Amino acid sequence: MHGSFEKRDNIGIIRVNNPPVNAINAGVREAIIDGCAKINADPQIKAGILICEGRTFMVGADIREFGKPMQAPSLPDTIQALEDSSKFMVAAIHGSAFGGGLEIALGCHYRVAVADAKVGLPEVKLGLLPGAGGTQRLPRLVGVDAALDIIVSGDPLPAEKAAQLGIIDKILDGDLPEAALEYTKRLVAEGALPRKIRDLDIDTGQMPKDYFEQARQRIAKQKKKLFSPQRIVDALEAAATLPFDKGLKRERDLFMQCLQNSQARALQHVFFAERATSQIPDLDKNVPVRDIESVAVIGAGTMGGGIAMNFLNAGIPVTLLEVKQDALDRGVAVMRKNYESSAAKGRLTMQQVEQRMDLLAPTLSYDDLGKANLIIEAVFETMAIKKEVFGKLDKVAAKGAILASNTSYLSIDEIASSTSRPQDVVGMHFFSPANVMRLCEVVRGKKSAQDALKTAIETTKRIGKVGVVCANSDGFIGNRMLGGYGYQAALCVLEGAMPEQVDSVLRDFGMPMGPMQMSDLAGLDIGYKSRKERDPDSFDGRVFRTADLLVEMGRLGQKTGAGYYDYAPGDRTPRPSPVVAELIEMSSQDFGIVRREIRDEEILERCLLSLVNAGCDVLAEKVANRASDIDIVYIYGYGFPAYRGGPMFWAENEVGLKTALEKLRKYSVQTGGKWLKVSPFLEKLVASGEGFASAGE
Ligand code: NAD
Repeated sequence: MHGSFEKRDNIGIIRVNNPPVNAINAGVREAIIDGCAKINADPQIKAGILICEGRTFMVGADIREFGKPMQAPSLPDTIQALEDSSKFMVAAIHGSAFGGGLEIALGCHYRVAVADAKVGLPEVKLGLLPGAGGTQRLPRLVGVDAALDIIVSGDPLPAEKAAQLGIIDKILDGDLPEAALEYTKRLVAEGALPRKIRDLDIDTGQMPKDYFEQARQRIAKQKKKLFSPQRIVDALEAAATLPFDKGLKRERDLFMQCLQNSQARALQHVFFAERATSQIPDLDKNVPVRDIESVAVIGAGTMGGGIAMNFLNAGIPVTLLEVKQDALDRGVAVMRKNYESSAAKGRLTMQQVEQRMDLLAPTLSYDDLGKANLIIEAVFETMAIKKEVFGKLDKVAAKGAILASNTSYLSIDEIASSTSRPQDVVGMHFFSPANVMRLCEVVRGKKSAQDALKTAIETTKRIGKVGVVCANSDGFIGNRMLGGYGYQAALCVLEGAMPEQVDSVLRDFGMPMGPMQMSDLAGLDIGYKSRKERDPDSFDGRVFRTADLLVEMGRLGQKTGAGYYDYAPGDRTPRPSPVVAELIEMSSQDFGIVRREIRDEEILERCLLSLVNAGCDVLAEKVANRASDIDIVYIYGYGFPAYRGGPMFWAENEVGLKTALEKLRKYSVQTGGKWLKVSPFLEKLVASGEGFASAGE
């Protein structure tokens, strides 16, 4: 049993103890049921307290029990034992009461908490819904509206907010076990009785008749294509319209529907994949982390400003360096504007805006960088400039300072060679907008020291990012893989599709935008310039003909109001352009390509399987440590739909690796073989019947 029982005067205390987070396994459930029985059997005991040892209340199911048959007693039976207790039960919460933890607390008759406790039902984040009465009890306690918000968002609520809503009866000061005991004794003295949430009514009289239909539509817009939020609405409708026991049964059915849906499996994969990113092969666990108290950012452009904001948000001072005063002023002004617009939306107070801006020290002088423990370079993407900057940093940076580059494609090893301390150099590749996107690829150079790497990874966590470690490679993990994806998209256009068809296929799949829209957003001139610098034999120039012509016409994308699409002033909605259609047809004709109708399925397969194929090369070369790291890169860096688990998970679980290989072979032959070469690594995996789980590490 993972818990103990103690009788203090006329109160029975159940203490759950399952370190580190009191996950609700069979031993915990047994301890609760056992405690309830003791409380009810002892005539001297007038009430019970349910409290947890260690750093938190119960935070949900035990992940080690995932996928195994539930061992008795079940969670619903445990909650029922609490609720049916003839002596009243008080849940005393510290840390977090999440998921099953909160459902257990809702089975108790009273709930008290310390001021910094949090409660929440995060099941939706794993593609599920609270399946042990949470969807039936919470709306009875707080009303349908508030319950819907809490369960559909899955976000934690601070104790104070939970108390305002009535989830927590009282916030207690001081030592929780003693304060809860005192509170319970007082209730006993007042003659308190068990109060069952199940007996509360939901007042539907005030709700519009089509309340649930409206909720379904609203949530369909907010949580595009997600399965479980809709089932949550169904469960709340059951709570509002059915007797409690029938509602519970409906909740169970809906829970099972979610569990069996592919989204739940994908989202659980993402949950574990995110945690796996911090396991780095051959990184000694005992390596100390260097102190990061002050940061410097070089370049106050699109990326530098966003990167700096991450540190300011975490309360870490930033020195921001630019070459020219006007560029510096512009960069600082953009940061301020971003903060002020967050304040206008109520996400920050003006005082917080000022606190953050006060931590920023803009400068034009390298002499001001001596204090920084971490310096992140985000200047133009040109090797010569990067090397010049790192050469200067080498002269002024403090001993042991980490020197990081935000380069998208360039070699970290070559950049490091411009310093006398390559062991301190790593890549920290943030994604745009850098203050929003959660991914940071941490690039491990050949000479990067273990403690420098570990510090960079820890730093990404400190600023709320997910760091994925990769080896030095052209474009690292994400951008390198993007090449084949963009190529197939452009080739489909040359062969017969229009940009709007290609984009809508990928949007329908769940990508936030299609490849042509993405080019318009980034600026077509970026690819154009890089092609001018590359060996023309290293890419298929035909597919870029249209993009090149667009750039030469001044259609650079959103920033010029026209690119692959037309844009109305101040509106980012892409509108198909007759001019572009004509250019595309002309390009096809020039290359002797007879345009044909291309099915949506072919577009999707060619684009996404090329991405996966490149992912296999990335794994084969050990640029990524594991396939699930690639999934995280695509979900947090490129908006790949999490409910599909990432490109590698999708290929393995939705398509099947054997089918993926067959299709890739077919498309490779169909497109001439030169620019889509099937990854030998994928061939090998399929031949051996193995999956991605066996690869990497
Ligand atoms: P940007 O043009 O918006 O900003 C670059 C800034 O660096 C400019 O303000 C410029 O004045 C400044 N600068 C140039 N040379 C400098 C020097 N020697 N010293 C100090 N400052 C100097 O470019 P960006 O989009 O922010 O990109 C910066 C870096 O980030 C590039 O390496 C790019 O590849 C990478 N990156 C960009 C994105 C993106 O989506 N924009 C995403 C990830 C990584």
